[in-house]
Amino acid sequence: MSSDEQDPVKTICPYCGVGCGIQVQPGEDPGDMRFMPWGDAPVNDGRVCIKGGAATQVVDHEDRLTDPLIKEDGEFREASWEEAYERIVSEMEEIREEFGPDAMGFFGSSKTMNEENYLLQKLARRYGTNNVDNCTRMCHASTVYALRTSLGAGAMTNSMEDLMNEADVLWIQGANPAEQHPIANSNYFRQAVLDGATVIQVDPHANKTTTSFDIEETERHQHLQLEPGTDIPLLNIVLKTVLENDWVDEEFVEERTEGIEDLRETLEDFDKEAAAEECGVPLEDIELAAEKYATADNAAIFTGMGMSQHTCGVDNVQNEINLALATGNLGRPGTGVNPLRGQNNVQGTSDVGAMPNVLPGYQLVDDDEARESVEDVWGFEIPDEPGLTNVEITQSIGEQIQGMYVMGENPVMSEPNANHVSDLLDELGFLVVQDIFMTETAEYADVVLPATTWAERGGTVTNTDRRVQRMRGVQKVHENTKHDLDILCEVGTRLFGEGFDFDTPEEVFEELRQVCPSYHGMTYDALGEEGIHWPCYEPGDEGDQYLYEDGFDTESGLGQIEGVTHQPPKEVPDEEYPLILTTARLEEHYNTGTMSRRSPRLNKQYPENFVDVHPNDAERYGIEDGEKITLKSRRGEIEVEAHVTEDIKEGVVWTTPHFAAASANRLTNDVLDERANIPEYKAAAAEIEVGVEP
Ligand code: SF4
Repeated sequence: MSSDEQDPVKTICPYCGVGCGIQVQPGEDPGDMRFMPWGDAPVNDGRVCIKGGAATQVVDHEDRLTDPLIKEDGEFREASWEEAYERIVSEMEEIREEFGPDAMGFFGSSKTMNEENYLLQKLARRYGTNNVDNCTRMCHASTVYALRTSLGAGAMTNSMEDLMNEADVLWIQGANPAEQHPIANSNYFRQAVLDGATVIQVDPHANKTTTSFDIEETERHQHLQLEPGTDIPLLNIVLKTVLENDWVDEEFVEERTEGIEDLRETLEDFDKEAAAEECGVPLEDIELAAEKYATADNAAIFTGMGMSQHTCGVDNVQNEINLALATGNLGRPGTGVNPLRGQNNVQGTSDVGAMPNVLPGYQLVDDDEARESVEDVWGFEIPDEPGLTNVEITQSIGEQIQGMYVMGENPVMSEPNANHVSDLLDELGFLVVQDIFMTETAEYADVVLPATTWAERGGTVTNTDRRVQRMRGVQKVHENTKHDLDILCEVGTRLFGEGFDFDTPEEVFEELRQVCPSYHGMTYDALGEEGIHWPCYEPGDEGDQYLYEDGFDTESGLGQIEGVTHQPPKEVPDEEYPLILTTARLEEHYNTGTMSRRSPRLNKQYPENFVDVHPNDAERYGIEDGEKITLKSRRGEIEVEAHVTEDIKEGVVWTTPHFAAASANRLTNDVLDERANIPEYKAAAAEIEVGVEP
């Protein structure tokens, strides 16, 4: 059969959380598959960014894992699946017998589907532990915590579509959609701006978003370029300006919120001038932005990892919630607090319960009623105490943790203080990794299982605005690889005898919807090609474009306002490390780069890491643009090319986590937000050394 005779398959881009629809055109050979646009895809109308267009390039990459591997005497050798399964089951049983079930940690993956993550967390809980987590911990755990606690659901309050149609002001803080969510930026944000919306961008780094709107600064576009880690004082200036000018929506606050008095008290003696100086932004610019937001008919906040990845990440997002609640910008189209999620299924991975404190549908593990309702379906007892988060799991190696099961994740590169993570994994008793490539983490494994890629299998994923969509697969490229779902079914059945006997992703989804109230009304048929925005409680529900029209999902039904005060980053510049290091991602790469670094088109754009340095700092250190320098923190050092640019503020340096040899995470600080356990990737003390051999 020629390639022209085979029907293309409609699926979802495997990269960011926008959830663009694409098609994969199978060719004659299994490895021969091409990208095709999906013209009327619901999210993107056929448009894709550079990553989406290059997605099929890595499916048949020469580095694909094609057979199970077992490590012996420090070397990997090929093994049969039977041998690999036997080893995994015997090691996991031994660990449970000797140390108890909480000695294992399980890592789900936002690169895999809802059904796979659902089964992984069920496997962990059947094993007897809640030590299961996913990379939402590294990106938006604090956002999820604040949104759940103060509004009810840990997700975007609104959808991209209603925001584009209705929002008059887009307040984008700590996010760079033009770089990290390109199609959301071009299809939705830019359209809103063309229709007259104003953009307020709050970010320490001038970036693609800053220049993407083509509108005059101060007229309908302000960039408030603050010092890293000063988001709370900046928003407190905004909030105090709102209070001073009577821009509070009194009726909304009275009827739908509680806590405004706490906010008033918190800000009573707050000194706006001193705070503006700390932020490094003129006070009048912040006051002007406050006026634009507070006096708009509909104003929407978009929040990114520049807010969440701090030790005060929960409070950062709480202050955005305070602003939205105080001005009545919630519960209707074009408003809300909207986290832009990074990976194609990071929302869904959390929705289906791959987190240590919640079961599917964010039901708390320590809520007896919720737990028992899930136990009734699963037929076994679930531990009633929250487990360890992923960073806690790796940090507990050698103490509580003896073994880890990692599906599609790469903690050696994704976690902060990465050199230390490598040392810890060296000490780990047993590590199994299932992935498509030999990742930096898989190198430390005892057993490596070769999985199929996104293009070869079906299932569902949930994008950044809660839209659950189906992915569809073409034929396998390598005969001896297996779908993640089939691997988990086999391991589960061998370990426990029953509860993991599923033939298709749809069968798993049917069980998932029984235990996940917000997905209960969905079926594969109902999802069709459009998908459905959760919550969808009953069959026939069309899903919600925006949340909280009538009330919030908190205990009192009221939105929670809570004043917060400035907490500087845990590590601040000093004599030895006088610079502030901050980090972010590039449009052309994807997180730890396991896929994007292997894509010829993407890698050509940025084959290696670099660091942005302000011209005044460059002059002080004697650095030429393009020169190789050493960037150091207390935890490690990397060699990178210096890009001398005014995009960054003096005293701040900016780099990325994508490149194995010089990842920002060799430098980042592994200190955590106390409530959400998210690491402080966005601010650490750093120093530069010049004179690196070219
Ligand atoms: Fe894929 Fe995101 Fe690009 Fe869309 S915007 S094509 S989902 S990477």
